[in-house]
Amino acid sequence: MDFRYTPEQAELKARAAAYSQRLMRYENESEEAGGPLPAETVRTLTREAIDAGVFAINMPVEWGGAGLSLLDQVIVEEEFGKVTNCLWDIPWRPANVLAYGTEAQREKYLLPVIRGERFDAFAVTEPGAGSDAGSGTSTADPVPGGWLLNGEKWFVTCGDVADFLLVQADAGPDRQPTLFFVDKQAPGVRMTRVPRFMHSAVNGHPEFVLQDVFVPDEDVLGGVGNGYELTKEWFTDERLMIAARTTGAAERALELARDWAVERRQFGSRIADFQLIQGMLADCAVDIAVNRAYTHQVAWEVSQGTA
Ligand SMILES: Cc1cc2nc3c(=O)[nH]c(=O)nc-3n(C[C@H](O)[C@H](O)[C@H](O)COP(=O)(O)OP(=O)(O)OC[C@H]3O[C@@H](n4cnc5c(N)ncnc54)[C@H](O)[C@@H]3O)c2cc1C
Repeated sequence: MDFRYTPEQAELKARAAAYSQRLMRYENESEEAGGPLPAETVRTLTREAIDAGVFAINMPVEWGGAGLSLLDQVIVEEEFGKVTNCLWDIPWRPANVLAYGTEAQREKYLLPVIRGERFDAFAVTEPGAGSDAGSGTSTADPVPGGWLLNGEKWFVTCGDVADFLLVQADAGPDRQPTLFFVDKQAPGVRMTRVPRFMHSAVNGHPEFVLQDVFVPDEDVLGGVGNGYELTKEWFTDERLMIAARTTGAAERALELARDWAVERRQFGSRIADFQLIQGMLADCAVDIAVNRAYTHQVAWEVSQGTA
């Protein structure tokens, strides 16, 4: 079995690394601002990501995305992960399940996201529904021409900058889990809080309350009753990409630790000369190699259709 990157993958990795270096210039600014960057900076970095072919990497070329396989996406996301402050949110990754929209939904919602003009966020989690994401209590009651949504959503990553949300709610008397496109400006949508997290992130994870929010029938994604299946598909994809980013983050941290161990002197020698320090650095290198290999294997299996 050949584990080497193809020439195309090596070029892709170098391109993603070059773009990540661009993002790194804004780490301190984002840290000091406690999160957001000026809108003009975000627009510039968005344009550069599109030009570098690292924007909407999970969407087909014919719709304007980069059209990468899952394995190639993992290679890119690993480079993004080396950047702090979640600045990797800027080269946007539309929710994968947006690809299941109707042609009209694609025109209205997905294509503007791929062009960097609008942004989406996914709203599943609730105060009482975390790991058990199918246990939400948000409801969608049928009314003429559509649905009335009620509920509360938490941890909506990038919900503060998003233009629309994909909201999971139980539809009708049979409580069928369903995904709805909800415009953030729609009457009845309130962003109630943007809680502080332990990390500094360029975008937040706000909470929303939905009160009698009208959603027309044409804004149901993937059909009534299919919401939980789509949510699982989104979570699987997102969590795989988190695995890739954490590998990149760990590698950057290890490089910094190695450089410091070589530079720092104590007891008359470099601390890198102490066996215990060497052992810790070696353990980190092994953990990173294992995690990279496993993440690549899972992505490769999915790309081959064997997972
Ligand atoms: C940074 C961040 C971003 C997020 N972004 C989004 C988003 O964009 N959209 C969205 O809808 N949600 C989002 N979430 C929510 C996330 O998906 C939930 O936090 C996650 O599902 C866990 O839910 P919880 O925090 O309520 O933990 P809980 O489900 O309450 O779990 C608490 C603990 O119990 C453990 N546990 C739970 N069930 C079991 C079990 N069966 N067996 C063993 N242990 C178990 C868990 O592992 C955890 O350690 C985000 C969360 C974070 C932290």
